Amino acid sequence: MSKVGETTLVLDLAALEHNYNYLRSKIKPETKFLGVVKAFAYGSDMVTIAQKLEQLGADYLAVAYVSEGVLLRKAGIQLPILVLHPLVSNFDDLITNQLEPSIYSRNILNQFLEAAKAQEQTNYPVHIKFNTGLNRLGFSETDVDFIVEETKRSECIKIISAFSHLAASEDVNERDFSLNQINSFKNLSNALMDKLSYQPMQHMLNTSGIINYPEAQFEMVRSGIGLYGYGNQAQVDAQLRPVATLKTIISQIHQIDANESIGYNRAFKSNKPIKSATLPIGHADGIGRQYGKGKGFVTINNKKAPILGNVCMDMIMVDVTEIDCKEGDEVIVFGHQKSAEKFAATANTISYEILTAISQRVKRVAVGA
Ligand SMILES: *Cc1c(COP(=O)(O)O)cnc(C)c1O
Repeated sequence: MSKVGETTLVLDLAALEHNYNYLRSKIKPETKFLGVVKAFAYGSDMVTIAQKLEQLGADYLAVAYVSEGVLLRKAGIQLPILVLHPLVSNFDDLITNQLEPSIYSRNILNQFLEAAKAQEQTNYPVHIKFNTGLNRLGFSETDVDFIVEETKRSECIKIISAFSHLAASEDVNERDFSLNQINSFKNLSNALMDKLSYQPMQHMLNTSGIINYPEAQFEMVRSGIGLYGYGNQAQVDAQLRPVATLKTIISQIHQIDANESIGYNRAFKSNKPIKSATLPIGHADGIGRQYGKGKGFVTINNKKAPILGNVCMDMIMVDVTEIDCKEGDEVIVFGHQKSAEKFAATANTISYEILTAISQRVKRVAVGA
């Protein structure tokens, strides 16, 4: 991998291709594949990842909010884009940019019908979201007749799919709960389809769903974290390759005497002489304060260097007493050897959070295209 001269998130597109092919190998060839690229493609680079997924043959993309879909359209992405959490105030932008809303409540359905009518749309593609136990967004059983009546009353929209989302697809202890969710999704979506004169697609599975419940793949699956190289389970992680590697360099090295302190609030106090390295990355780049005080560590010349004291806005100081290193040397925060999952675990969080936390200030560089 390339050397960097500043804090950089290196994105390995060959790893993305590998992960895409791996996930595809877990589903039937005819099952459609939706790549989830919300939150800057899990903190990486939304346009670069979307372009690569389009080139690899993904069938659909999904984002969380309308503004994210608009960015993709501006970059020339042609694939259909599902917006998982559209808000009423963005409906005009959504329609202008040919984004497809998840319709998750009576209010959203009514308001979207109005917006579609005002823009003189016919058969505008929408996706009906059912709540089957996550209790986040979605219609319930008692809404099915309402959905059908409102949809039939107007020519404005066409239901392209019915979908739901698993609450604990990675948790083997919640298998009964997940199977229940799948079952109630079948009942809800079948009830909807029975009352329509056409057959929307059905989809339910995220990455861990693809691995653990392949029998519920229906016509499409929706994968995010797996594409970026994380499988929520060690045996799946072993098959995937992290796309993002966060690198930085050593700005300065200090010899610290016994009884000196390092950083704000003197949160680290040395009881022996040590050597510290200052790195140009801090909480404004996504390394939260919870990684400080010895919890998180970076890798320098293949050795562990724990974070000393508090994380600053733009810098961290790490312990390099036992490491042969010099100013300008490369530092790996997380990536292909020490995964983001392991780095996140040091601060009691998960890969999803550390990946999406990497701020837009950090330079992105794609390799392996
Ligand atoms: C984010 C999201 C996904 C992707 O989940 P992963 O665990 O990252 O694969 C799928 N579906 C919905 C509704 C989501 O919000």
